Amino acid sequence: MELKVCHLYPDVLNLYGDRGNIMCMKKRLEWRGIGCSVDNVGIGEKNDLTAYDLFFIGGGQDFDQEILLEDLRLRKGGQIRDALEDGKVFLCICGGYQMMGHYYKTPDGHYCQFLGAIDFYTVGGEKRMIGNYAYRLGQESGGETVVGFENHSGRTHLGKGLRPLGTVLRGFGNNGEDRTEGVRYKNAFCTYSHGPVLPKNPAFADVILETALSRKYGSCSLEPLKDGFERLAHDTVLRQVLRPLWLPGK
Ligand code: GLN
Repeated sequence: MELKVCHLYPDVLNLYGDRGNIMCMKKRLEWRGIGCSVDNVGIGEKNDLTAYDLFFIGGGQDFDQEILLEDLRLRKGGQIRDALEDGKVFLCICGGYQMMGHYYKTPDGHYCQFLGAIDFYTVGGEKRMIGNYAYRLGQESGGETVVGFENHSGRTHLGKGLRPLGTVLRGFGNNGEDRTEGVRYKNAFCTYSHGPVLPKNPAFADVILETALSRKYGSCSLEPLKDGFERLAHDTVLRQVLRPLWLPGK
């Protein structure tokens, strides 16, 4: 078995070590004897995107999001939408998440016309939403808790009938108002979590990998890994993020 991974726009969309998600997925596959190849596909490159099983898109500053708009429109937009509708797996972080929606209006009035691959939009606000946070994944994405770091001015609002990726336990999530975090559409997992998110959320990492392997090879259940350090990292951060709820007065 093997997964072919496409890292889209690594030249501009990569904040807070987001590319660590790719290292994490590759390692977790290799530890189980499953192959993984990764291609970087940046601005101006015209690869055949039907060749890939899993797409990763990291976060970026408003400026970085603006400079790839032409490439999206001229080269990759149609192929990305087709891959998504075809059930290919996507992990999209923050600015990369926003790119899957209809548009992002930046706080200084710039309008980024995005893919419209998923029915949501994002509007920037003056106050950035920053901090460590936690959310619980929806049942269709495994139901586990996820810890991460968010830093965005964009407030994302999901269209009717769309399921968020999870429910905020502490922090802002999509917009700081409705406790939704990210979106789960078909096999796309979109989230505001930087960090990178996967190394300290191994259950979430495996849900993504199992989804990609099942789509390619039929049903697949990954053998468990030890995950001692990974779970320790997850539990430690989760305790810190939730502490005021768990231990009032301490
Ligand atoms: N520029 C976007 C925002 O501020 C995305 C930021 C990010 O990827 N961290 O909302």
